Amino acid sequence: MTTRPEPRSALWRAGWYGFARQLASPNFGARPGGARVDLIVLHSISLPPGQYGGEEVQQLFSNTLDWNAHPYFKSIEGVAVSAHFYIRRNGELWQFVSCDDRAWHAGNSHYRGRDNCNDDSVGIELEGLEGATFEPAQYEALAGLCAAIGQQYPVQHIAGHEHIAPGRKSDPGEGFDWALLQRCLAWPKQCFPR
Ligand SMILES: [Zn+2]
Repeated sequence: MTTRPEPRSALWRAGWYGFARQLASPNFGARPGGARVDLIVLHSISLPPGQYGGEEVQQLFSNTLDWNAHPYFKSIEGVAVSAHFYIRRNGELWQFVSCDDRAWHAGNSHYRGRDNCNDDSVGIELEGLEGATFEPAQYEALAGLCAAIGQQYPVQHIAGHEHIAPGRKSDPGEGFDWALLQRCLAWPKQCFPR
């Protein structure tokens, strides 16, 4: 019996992307049966907000953050959240949940006629501050990642948390350059938020 290697499978293993640092989060569940993963959701996060370069986001997503380490952390104490990916200011890429599974990043949400976007989206967190700008290295890493996700999953849409939960969420916000991402990816305009 011969097995033919699939060109895509070298990059992905059971929903884990080969070029990301892996840190498994306990905060995930199974996707509903038949879920069509056709949406990428972009977020921004930094802990404490506006401070970059620490390990606190990784700790939050792996339920190891010390809630007493900073006054801000008390305001989010006990939350159990995750994203599939996290891109640091220098472009370093982390993965916490297999893209085959459902990460907990979107909350109450609605987009392209469907509710509960966690069911059938891939969530990417950018280290940053809502409304502020992002680094060239982050766009570079993000574009490469989105292209890789698009080769593995039937992605049709990419949107911000602010677009899938308007009024409740406003990340990544005005400082995110959607036009730049579109140029980098060369995906059709209708894939992007209007
Ligand atoms: Zn968000």
